[in-house]
Amino acid sequence: MKEFSNPKELANYRKKMSGTIGFVPTMGALHNGHISLIKQSVKENDKTIVSIFVNPTQFLESEDLGAYPRRLQADLKICQLSGVDIVFLPNIDDMYEKNELSIKAPRVKGFILEGFDRPGHFDGVLQIVLKLLSITLPTCAYFGKKDAQQLFMIQNMVKHLFLDVEIVPCEIVREDDGLALSSRNIYLSREDRVKALSLSSTLKLSSKLVISGELNSKEIKEQMRDILKDTKIEYVEIVDREFNQIEEIEIKNTIILVAASVGKTRLIDNIWI
Ligand code: AMP
Repeated sequence: MKEFSNPKELANYRKKMSGTIGFVPTMGALHNGHISLIKQSVKENDKTIVSIFVNPTQFLESEDLGAYPRRLQADLKICQLSGVDIVFLPNIDDMYEKNELSIKAPRVKGFILEGFDRPGHFDGVLQIVLKLLSITLPTCAYFGKKDAQQLFMIQNMVKHLFLDVEIVPCEIVREDDGLALSSRNIYLSREDRVKALSLSSTLKLSSKLVISGELNSKEIKEQMRDILKDTKIEYVEIVDREFNQIEEIEIKNTIILVAASVGKTRLIDNIWI
């Protein structure tokens, strides 16, 4: 497994590579969710590149970038055991200059839900993903459905900028009890972890309601909010796959999303119907 920290060195090396390239961008503190993306890439491509970079521009000033979990040695071991060919570990100063052009997430859809609670977050996400795609020039790039709106924003950017890469959406990986894996789960106390289960429980309820024939979004959202009463709800929303709010569930074209804080930890989860 090769390691690069300099973007130009990796870009030069990449140009000499042949065959298909899979790319998995991450912020590290790798867990089974990341590993499933990596394994899919390794299976589907000749070579796989993983980046580990806690990107400062997607954190708001009020968010604690410094406290984001970092576990580099364990991450490198995971990459090696998962069959990764190249790990990219850039420094902030090599990735950004002082006066850069800015990338703006689309109005409305970049500023609802996650973008409403974290204004500017998607500008930062798109900026770093565009840089990483330019350096690695992958055939396919792998993103988790766990961050459904992020996935949608990236698919849109690829379309709008005519980028030559296939974005591959990957299924959400959960603990046995339903909790969606997240690098932030380590912040949860034992008590908070029990409360955090209400996010996946409320999504399970929503799918049961749909199966039983309830298609009215308002009705479903009300019942979902009840289950989340021990959390600080940020949003419970039902959208179509283009992130338009919908009043009626459309089978095979709906995403039900929830964001809530448990203690100081902000969690998100969703289900695709
Ligand atoms: P992050 O390190 O949080 O930026 O995540 C890197 C990638 O892993 C993103 O595409 C996430 O959507 C994906 N990811 C994170 N958690 C999960 C999960 N539980 N299941 C599937 N993919 C995930």
